[in-house]
Amino acid sequence: MRKIYKSHTTGGGYKSLTVLVSLLIAVLAITSCTQYIPVFIPGTGNDISDHSHQWDTGNVLIAETCVDDGVMLYTCLICGEEKTEAINAHGHNFENDICTYCNNSKTNIDASEARIGLKYYKTLKEAVEAAIALDPAERVIDITAETIKEYNAHGIEINGSITINANGADFGNRDLAIYTYNNLWKNPESGEINIVINDAENLYLWGQPDDQLPNDNDIINVTMNNCHNKGNGSLANAGRMLYFTGTKGTTNITISNCSVESTDSPFYTNNPGKLEFIDCTFTDIAVPLNFNMKTAGTKTITVDGCKFNNCGATVDESADISKYSAPIRVVATEEGAKPELILKNSEFYGTKGDNGDVLLAVDGTYYGVNAVLEGNKTDVEICNVYNPKTYITINAGMTGSVSSSDSI
Ligand SMILES: [Zn+2]
Ligand SMILES: [Zn+2]
Repeated sequence: MRKIYKSHTTGGGYKSLTVLVSLLIAVLAITSCTQYIPVFIPGTGNDISDHSHQWDTGNVLIAETCVDDGVMLYTCLICGEEKTEAINAHGHNFENDICTYCNNSKTNIDASEARIGLKYYKTLKEAVEAAIALDPAERVIDITAETIKEYNAHGIEINGSITINANGADFGNRDLAIYTYNNLWKNPESGEINIVINDAENLYLWGQPDDQLPNDNDIINVTMNNCHNKGNGSLANAGRMLYFTGTKGTTNITISNCSVESTDSPFYTNNPGKLEFIDCTFTDIAVPLNFNMKTAGTKTITVDGCKFNNCGATVDESADISKYSAPIRVVATEEGAKPELILKNSEFYGTKGDNGDVLLAVDGTYYGVNAVLEGNKTDVEICNVYNPKTYITINAGMTGSVSSSDSI
């Protein structure tokens, strides 16, 4: 029987018709299966059993603006199939310094650091302040500057859901303070909070959720895509990317296609959560992924497709930092804390110090941690007993699991 279905991206008027027609064919096919049966759309005379799509002139689904692309929807005149195409942003059109489309002044646009929709703001801080008043879904800030103007440390607070499309802007290793103060963002939101950062350079998310997070069961989801940080050396704190202290709430983190170079401890959280690091690169860092779980609960840390170059620290570099440094450190120092590491498709080169590529124990009291390894690209050495130092190696490509035992 000939194929007569055509896919429809959204239910069109022809869909029920197609089903009806195909039912008819099915009935006819039972009585006479050798006969070719053309399929006509009633009233048109068009055979839809075999055709090249004939697209209509299109309908605007999302209108383009001065700066954002729109979407055009085309529908096949014969079968009703739909496809979409981008409509390019049309750009500003200035007459006497005012854009005839968006009414912004050229001066204001040129001096802007960020925008929300078509409204421009001179500084990122002003944009965040304006965003606070909006519904969470509308809080999308696009950075329009190449570099973020100077602002005081912890001067921009994020105490709720927000998306920042940095478009490659360089923050100069300045921070956004997450649930730490409430001078700017006065009423911290509770529930499930989504913080999304795309394409930022040298941006540091620093948080102490214990200070401002309203409830113990609040959840902060942080997503960072294509962000890149570079600091001043493997033992210095400049260049950190996400460093949260405190045990309140849950912090879920997804970090994709990011890179960090030359800093001490770019990722750190103490509380429960689901953490994912996908296709990231870490270079010249004392302890790139550093998770000491300090509260009861579960914490799953997935590291997939990551590359660790020259990470860790030797006693010569710093006797103190070398005690806990390793490319990945996952430990539990509170009873009932259950962290688990899932490490796959990753690679380790030039690891420094004597804590292995993965450190699952600390000097002193600690609780058991599980690590599951799967198909890594290099051998991975795991230190699972601190004193005396004991190691287990899972060879490249192999699957295995390693645990540290309680040391109390
Ligand atoms: Zn068609
Ligand atoms: Zn405009």
